[in-house]
Amino acid sequence: MDTVRVWKLRDLDCAECGARVEAAVNAMPGVRKATVDYMQMKMTVQTDVPEDDAFWKAVEKTAHGAEDEMEMREMKDGVCPYCGHERCTCCEAGGRKKRDPMPLRILSSAILFILSMALRSRQEASMALALLSYAIAGYDVLINTVKNLFKGKMLDEHFLMAVASVGAMVLKDWREAAAVMIFYQIGEYFQEKAVDSSRRNIASLLDLESDTVTVVREGRDVVVEPDDVRVGETVKVKNGEKIPLDGVIVSGSTLIDTKNITGEPVPRRAGVGDSVVSGCVNAQSVITIRTTSLSKDSTVSKITKLVENSSSSKAKSEQFITRFARVYTPSVVGAAFLLALIGSLATRQPSVWIYRAFVFLVISCPCALVVSVPLAYFSGIGALAKRGVMVKGGNWLQTLSECDTFAFDKTGTLTDGTFAVTKTDVWAGGWDEDTLLRYAASLEKESTHPIAHAVAAVGKDLMEATDVEERAGRGLVGRVDGHAVACGNAKLLSELGIPVAGEAARGGSTVMVAVDGVHVGTILVSDSVKKGVPSSLQRLRNLGVKRLVMLTGDEKRNAEAVAEEIGIDTVKAGLLPTDKTTEFGRLKDGGHKVAYTGDGINDAPVLALSDVGLAMGALGSDAAIESADIVLMTDDFSRVADARRIAMATSRVAKENIALALAVKFAALVLGALGLAGMWMAIFADTGVAILCVLNSLRILLSRR
Ligand code: ADP
Ligand code: MG
Repeated sequence: MDTVRVWKLRDLDCAECGARVEAAVNAMPGVRKATVDYMQMKMTVQTDVPEDDAFWKAVEKTAHGAEDEMEMREMKDGVCPYCGHERCTCCEAGGRKKRDPMPLRILSSAILFILSMALRSRQEASMALALLSYAIAGYDVLINTVKNLFKGKMLDEHFLMAVASVGAMVLKDWREAAAVMIFYQIGEYFQEKAVDSSRRNIASLLDLESDTVTVVREGRDVVVEPDDVRVGETVKVKNGEKIPLDGVIVSGSTLIDTKNITGEPVPRRAGVGDSVVSGCVNAQSVITIRTTSLSKDSTVSKITKLVENSSSSKAKSEQFITRFARVYTPSVVGAAFLLALIGSLATRQPSVWIYRAFVFLVISCPCALVVSVPLAYFSGIGALAKRGVMVKGGNWLQTLSECDTFAFDKTGTLTDGTFAVTKTDVWAGGWDEDTLLRYAASLEKESTHPIAHAVAAVGKDLMEATDVEERAGRGLVGRVDGHAVACGNAKLLSELGIPVAGEAARGGSTVMVAVDGVHVGTILVSDSVKKGVPSSLQRLRNLGVKRLVMLTGDEKRNAEAVAEEIGIDTVKAGLLPTDKTTEFGRLKDGGHKVAYTGDGINDAPVLALSDVGLAMGALGSDAAIESADIVLMTDDFSRVADARRIAMATSRVAKENIALALAVKFAALVLGALGLAGMWMAIFADTGVAILCVLNSLRILLSRR
């Protein structure tokens, strides 16, 4: 059995540092998988060694060894160890350790720099001003570098900047040295701000949990924390407040705004007896509810956890760029050394070539590379969360963008799943419609199948049914009023050896009713296609999906009629639950990537088999939330197309960011080697590009429908 522990991190300065911690912990024996999630400031470690304190101590030690400035505390029960809240309010919201007043430092250092430029004619004064400017901008960088040198840790950002700027001073380029530090700090400052604000942006999106709850205890209103409310207590929710816990309305009626969770803009009316879901907002008047869950089991805490953990499963492109960054820095540093050596020997102008080598050192910072991809995925996940689509990890988003085949369950996914009886045919003499429906309904009331509900609803004077046996994908058999009754499809009748007496009308699913071995009549039940399905399927095609497949247990004739109506090209009908997995496996033949969308009820095996599984209408269904990779809170079908669109946009932005970072770095390297780019350009190649990547990623988050 694998054990997993999670730590909340603080003062982790850059994505690169996170990657370094991750690599160090991953290299430990016994660690199965370690991920550092820079966006959420979390480290997750999975191990198969038995529970052992010494081991976890060693993990913490290794992590610290890789990044000693970093603080880490273990998270228990998903609660932030720093602020004590499940929905951490301190880490994302800029509550990290106060840094020195960077803007002020940058400003004063810049003024000194300008003065030094102005006094260029008076050598000594100019030099002194430049040095002072340098010291103000870069003292912490220098201190850090010296500290790290003693620990034998080289090649981090600070080291590279220190060497480059000290190098400039050796070449008597005082102002250049100051400029390197000033621009480095400006870049870092903006980069940090940008990452922080996108992190906050997403955190606020998911700010669904309530901080306090008004509970009515012994007739009085008491304000407590959500964790202190028991199941079955009475809770008051005022106008404009979030519903703190799942519950049932016991008094009052109001409009419930579910947009936070479902992305649905239109509020829903709810009154006494209706269930309400935590995280939604009471949009009209005061209600009281009786709670049906504890805070930790409530819908809102499940959803929040799901999205919070999502950036721990990294997309392939994310893993690629982290690995690339690890070889990139040493290679460029090596190249800088060669450049200085060979250039000096060949031209006998060492100062020119050493300067160019220092430019290389600045460009060798991997920060832009490392931050470029995670941000894109983080934004994609956030953009979908806003639309009520919860993605369990960047990897699923990447896979969804790559699928060429989308398969769907029919009932409840493409259709409403609310059947209604539309026609009844009687085949046997001595029977009439009412008696037929009465027998059928008496048996069907024992089943939970949506078809059974429709039949049970129309029968009158229902009788008791005994020996009821449900046959999955076929129907139901049992005894009613001393007769053997069977209700189901043609498969069921042939299984029972009962000849089919008549052909039913088209336009729905058929329930054949047999009594004492005779097919006495057929009930036609139909289910309507969900709104917006045809246009969403067309959108999927426009988004590059080649094959749309319907998998259903329904009969071929009806399935094909539905498929034609909505524009599905491949229909696999009459499938027993076990056939669904075999048929689905076949869709993957030939290297196709297949996404499956179902309602999450009894399609767990297919969801598990799919490259990426989507569950619809998951609000209120724990099974769906657990088993799917992407969870659609409502049963609005258009969200499937939204998910595909944003998945593709995210992959595209991730690729753009990689290309941008690599291209600018490469161009700067070439220009630097030729002596056409100075330190300033080099700094832009690092922090400037990182900022561009952040802005590019924010496009996904801010995109409209
Ligand atoms: P789906 O793939 O559409 O979810 P199911 O596997 O649930 O289909 O059911 C497949 C078929 O089995 C139905 O279309 C229906 O013909 C028949 N069936 C299943 N359960 C019942 C029932 N309780 N009463 C009548 N017919 C049933
Ligand atoms: Mg089904």
